[in-house]
Amino acid sequence: MRVGVLALQGGVDEHLDALARAGGQAVPVRTPVELEGVAALVIPGGESTTVMKLLARIGLIEPIVARVAAGMPLWGTCMGAIVAARDVAGLAQPTLGVLDVTVRRNAFGRQNESAEVPIDIPALGIERFPAVFIRAPWIERTGPGVEVLARRGERIVMVRQGNVLATAFHPELSADTRIHRFFVDATEASRAVPGKRSDAA
Ligand code: GLN
Repeated sequence: MRVGVLALQGGVDEHLDALARAGGQAVPVRTPVELEGVAALVIPGGESTTVMKLLARIGLIEPIVARVAAGMPLWGTCMGAIVAARDVAGLAQPTLGVLDVTVRRNAFGRQNESAEVPIDIPALGIERFPAVFIRAPWIERTGPGVEVLARRGERIVMVRQGNVLATAFHPELSADTRIHRFFVDATEASRAVPGKRSDAA
């Protein structure tokens, strides 16, 4: 059961490494054929407008959207959360639109551009998670069916809608592998559900 990391731009190696530390088998995904070989996909941090252009050029938008609709677990971190979102506040920016939220880019402002903040994530247990924010978005609207998993202060920074997970921060940059483990577990569970099984890998 392989977890793919979209490897067009951004923090790819850190996710491959963290997934391996969490006990997953992780591989880079750069093409539609490589996407067919994975059971789940992580979209890392990076620059969302660049990655959307690359996804369009490579022909990966439709295959990713179709796999997610068929139940493939998807996790967007930071830029990945922007790419997954339905809407970007104040911008007519193309996205995959697989997560019914509105994100605001670079929302925490200049003095908070980069920060490590301990946050409560009840789904992971009592111990706070060291969340690394880098020019992070926040989630300012959640549609029905979107579950809020964590906030930083008032602001929503982690959500889940069915098989789609999004974090505004970068779990791959901390030593804590609980969110990577959470995603690997979700991937294993999705493979065990009849009807949600894809033919790939
Ligand atoms: N600011 C970036 C964007 O809007 C995201 C930052 C990140 O992924 N670290 O695309």
